[in-house]
Amino acid sequence: MAPKTVLISGAGIAGPALAYWLLQHGLQPTLVERAPRPRTGGYIIDFWGLGYDIVEKMGLLPAVLQAGYQLGEVRIVNARGRRVSHLNAEVFRAATVGRYTSISRGELAGILFSAVETRAEVLFNEGVTALAEDAGGVLVSFERSPSRRFDVVVGADGLHSTVRRLTFGPEQRFEKFLGYNVAVFRARGYRPRDEGIYVAYARPGSQIARFSLRDDRTVFLLITADHETQIESHDSEAVRRYLYQRFDSPDWECRQILESLEGCEDLYFDRVSQIRMPHWWKGRVALVGDAAYAPSLLAGQGAALAVIGAYVLAGELSRAGSAEQALARYESVLGPFLRNKQVAAEGVAATFAPRTRLGIFVRNQMVKALGLPLVAKLVLRYNLLDRITLPDYEARRAPVDLGPAGQAPGNSPAASSAAPGEP
Ligand SMILES: Cc1cc2nc3c(=O)[nH]c(=O)nc-3n(C[C@H](O)[C@H](O)[C@H](O)COP(=O)(O)OP(=O)(O)OC[C@H]3O[C@@H](n4cnc5c(N)ncnc54)[C@H](O)[C@@H]3O)c2cc1C
Repeated sequence: MAPKTVLISGAGIAGPALAYWLLQHGLQPTLVERAPRPRTGGYIIDFWGLGYDIVEKMGLLPAVLQAGYQLGEVRIVNARGRRVSHLNAEVFRAATVGRYTSISRGELAGILFSAVETRAEVLFNEGVTALAEDAGGVLVSFERSPSRRFDVVVGADGLHSTVRRLTFGPEQRFEKFLGYNVAVFRARGYRPRDEGIYVAYARPGSQIARFSLRDDRTVFLLITADHETQIESHDSEAVRRYLYQRFDSPDWECRQILESLEGCEDLYFDRVSQIRMPHWWKGRVALVGDAAYAPSLLAGQGAALAVIGAYVLAGELSRAGSAEQALARYESVLGPFLRNKQVAAEGVAATFAPRTRLGIFVRNQMVKALGLPLVAKLVLRYNLLDRITLPDYEARRAPVDLGPAGQAPGNSPAASSAAPGEP
């Protein structure tokens, strides 16, 4: 039987995007989010490609562009703050034909959530504790609410997904740790400000960077190359101690940035990992976004790939005869594309925090070289373009053939024929 009710665990990027497209297709999503409200915070992420196109289809592009930032320059400085390498961000815009913006992850999540909050059932402060599948659906147990049955359950609950653990097993089985840790936080009133410029300083094994936001706020990104240290992300005191150990130095603005940690907003800390799974679905349970195929925090593409996955998963659920058929199609449409993205993203992480002085020097020369039009064309075009044509799920819903006498024939054959662009 075709699925109708869908429980989505996680209201980050993938969750609300999935809820939006399910609603468009006439299905009933319920969103469950562990946090008490949509989570703000996070870094500035770059947003382009098919994710950008899908957000445009959702009618949200004006809001995204308004909330976004026009990056002007990536600037790398030395210990005295002198520019040693830079890249004019125009090269990114040229490679994406101007369809590119930088936006705070929290703002993007908020815009996606606002598109569904009044139309979908949303439970905050809630989480899934058990999933029991039978022929008729999935019986879901919650932390607080009574158990309920759904046709399909989707884990959109990020890198440390609970739905993945309950359905496929422990995280370690699927996590590919890339050897870096990342901390992100925001502070008010930080000086100096460099509008539109991403300013970064690197020492072997660590990089510290800042970007000026509106409302006199600055967001900081601290990266360490570190295979050993194990810190619980939610233990903010341990995270602070660790950051002091790794970044306390008279170089550049390191001390000043560490001082901003006191009283900062939304300290976020995590391992830089990918999630690699042989399959993203089992029975009536599926994963989407970071839960299924995290490319890593440093890939800069996690949000766009989450939106793409949500669009395809909702489209397939709307058209298949059974949940299992839909989930198998979802994986076959996107599997090769997303796995290739993960392979490419693995190399990107290493460029953020080279482990040696020579590595930093080579990285800085590469940044400079990207400013050369021919190099930019070759490298960025290859890395930025999304080489897949997605099925046009909207075309499936739209056609209502009025027939020669102007009478709607109901389920016209046109409505179930293959859509243009279907692989
Ligand atoms: C606070 C935060 C900051 C981030 N900062 C950056 C960044 O600076 N740069 C970057 O590239 N990426 C960042 N990311 C990751 C980035 O957002 C993802 O790569 C991308 O958005 C994929 O989206 P997603 O919806 O799959 O996962 P996420 O955006 O991580 O969303 C997952 C959602 O699920 C919720 N959740 C988790 N567990 C449960 C549970 N058991 N039950 C219910 N809900 C649950 C989370 O609270 C979250 O709202 C950040 C993620 C978060 C949550």
